[in-house]
Amino acid sequence: MAYAYDDQNIFAKILRGEIPNTTVLETDHTLAFRDIEPQAPTHVLVIPKGPYVSFDHFAADATDAEVIDFVRTISKVCKAEGVTLADGDGFRMIANAGKHGVQDVPHLHVHILGGRHMGRMVSRTD
Ligand code: AMP
Repeated sequence: MAYAYDDQNIFAKILRGEIPNTTVLETDHTLAFRDIEPQAPTHVLVIPKGPYVSFDHFAADATDAEVIDFVRTISKVCKAEGVTLADGDGFRMIANAGKHGVQDVPHLHVHILGGRHMGRMVSRTD
């Protein structure tokens, strides 16, 4: 079955300029912006500009140029936010996917969280 992408999702609207965002970094293929409800001193979302619903969709169908640009932008954001292991205390990177991953916005986004201890990786809510 093919991946279904809903172009009315909020990040698609941000990419079309219909909704404002606080941009951290923008490249030809990637946009990084601050989460509207930050859960840590650093909380940046990194998204590809292409219509990919999840990381698995992106990893399967994106061009090499898109993949390289996305990964390098994540690196640049971590450096700019001072959370790399070269110049900071680290970070957590999360990409939720679908119902079980508790993904609210169906456009691939990686959360970069840092600036505080993140606690355990997963807690059970069921
Ligand atoms: P997820 O649950 O992984 O899909 O995360 C969606 C994230 O998008 C949440 O952390 C929201 O706070 C964030 N978010 C929703 N709307 C906006 C917006 N307009 N600008 C920035 N971040 C947003």
